[in-house]
Amino acid sequence: MKAIRFTGLILFLFSLSLFLASFFMGSYTLTHEIFSTIVKPEHQEMLRNSYEFDRPYASGITFVNHLKKGIDEINVTARAEQRWGDIIYDDYVSTLTRASATGAVTENELLFFMLIYVVGTMGALMFILPQAKLAGPPGIRHNHIFHNALNNRGWLGMLSGTLLVVFYILLYFFPAYITNWIIIVNPVQKLLNPSASSGQWFLYGFLYTFAVIVMGFRMLVKYRHSRYQVFRTISVMFFQLAFAFVIPELLVRLNQPYFDFKNMWPLDYDFFDAWHINMLTQSGGLGIFMFAWGITLFVIGVPVFVYFFGKRWYCSWVCGCGGLAETAGDPFRQLSDKSTEAWQIERLLIHGVLVFGVIMTILVLYNFFGEDFYFAVNKWTVLAFPAIIGAGLFFFHRKKFPYMKGGKVRNVIVGIVGFFTLGAAFSEVSVFAKYMPVDGNNFNFSSGNIRTMYGFMIGSMFSGVIGTGFYPFMGNRVWCRFGCPLAAYLGLVQRFKSKFRITTNGGQCISCGNCSTYCEMGIDVRAYAQRGQNIIRSSCVGCGVCSAVCPRGVLNLENQNEYGRFNQPISLGNVNKII
Ligand code: SF4
Ligand code: SF4
Repeated sequence: MKAIRFTGLILFLFSLSLFLASFFMGSYTLTHEIFSTIVKPEHQEMLRNSYEFDRPYASGITFVNHLKKGIDEINVTARAEQRWGDIIYDDYVSTLTRASATGAVTENELLFFMLIYVVGTMGALMFILPQAKLAGPPGIRHNHIFHNALNNRGWLGMLSGTLLVVFYILLYFFPAYITNWIIIVNPVQKLLNPSASSGQWFLYGFLYTFAVIVMGFRMLVKYRHSRYQVFRTISVMFFQLAFAFVIPELLVRLNQPYFDFKNMWPLDYDFFDAWHINMLTQSGGLGIFMFAWGITLFVIGVPVFVYFFGKRWYCSWVCGCGGLAETAGDPFRQLSDKSTEAWQIERLLIHGVLVFGVIMTILVLYNFFGEDFYFAVNKWTVLAFPAIIGAGLFFFHRKKFPYMKGGKVRNVIVGIVGFFTLGAAFSEVSVFAKYMPVDGNNFNFSSGNIRTMYGFMIGSMFSGVIGTGFYPFMGNRVWCRFGCPLAAYLGLVQRFKSKFRITTNGGQCISCGNCSTYCEMGIDVRAYAQRGQNIIRSSCVGCGVCSAVCPRGVLNLENQNEYGRFNQPISLGNVNKII
């Protein structure tokens, strides 16, 4: 068994190394033919003199930089001269790079796919499955978890987190650099939809699903003693594979709109974008059904299901973000911050994002049905707003959030002010110009610009780069805990109108702290257990791990009558503050 595990580890490391090495493979040659086919006629004249044709580049990075430089120079000049119509927004860099790529990966995409993903899956399963025999009888073992370099912010954790952050930044903002990785998943794209070619979002969906399925097997082995955990894990694997990955691709193959039936507003923040509403409502009966389904899900589905089952029905059984957190993120669940301070920051942030999302959606709908919302403010004046809000928060928090230390508040303020300052100061730099509504000296607040900022700050940076990239630093539910507007909505219903609670048999508690340690949402479960109080927290995703790791059977997830849900704490000792 040990030999099988060792072989599996070698195979997996081989696949991982090949995946990373493929980033640097191949050569790139831009020809006149490729250029004329891809670049729009109105841009060809502007760009033609910026590019070298028929010159082979041995490095994808140099080639992409060359393409980017040409477009950036044109855009910087156009912005400086206020020729807004001449700015190029099309993503020519990715499409030109893809078409210009030659070499081992392009010519052997299926071989690379097999060596990376098929061999990698075999290796991972050979490493994971023997644990069912080797680890002894069913039951959770967390021995030495805080001495492990991966699980406790050691060098391996730091390395993994850094790689994840870099991957997300490349995927969201610079997909041309990962052209080879996009090409390698093309055989799967062709299998699902022969007329399509893989793109950056197909790669993302594939890797996401791959991680949930492979790490889902690890969950099944680790928690095989708990029926709740087994069913829950199978559920998230199924919803990710079928609803988030396969069905949307098949819909496109059948000339229907791309649609994930389990995703909903406000997590799906482009649901009310004009292009999305038009796409659904102009796609016949099925499109209109999808539009109605999406609205019904958050208007009726959320309150009804949360009332009967708590937010767990979505966050721990259905959602893709939750699915990834519960499977790939499981090795990091003990890293969540349990302090009261973190709880207060969590409430500020997650409800702040919900309010931002609601305002953004109202403005987008206002634009859809009528006039565009618009006003312009000098970019340096705009900086005063986060500074005033920050200062207000700094003084206000002492009264309202007494456990929050000044240092953390200061860091949040510095982050917000710094973000806007960078945006204003470097408004000419393309990466900011694309996402910050800055033209010349003005911040232009329009519905579209606010939507773009939301997409950049919340949709990309928070949910992707930080939400997943920070698993090895801050635990596996960074996004679900601090940023997801849908989790905030589900949480409000769970807190005020639901049958769900975790009951605690306080007399049995030995204060070992396992439950608090492994609560991915940073809830200090032990504090409730010690005083026999029901746990009714808006953030609780009902993962059930606190109950699974409790050696005394103290905790029970229940959907009972609402009566008596908020019971009074029973002081059993060790309690010095009641929150
Ligand atoms: S309190 Fe328990 S069920 Fe709720 S999120 Fe924490 S570990 Fe999961
Ligand atoms: S895991 Fe169980 S026994 Fe240990 S502190 Fe939590 S409730 Fe008490």
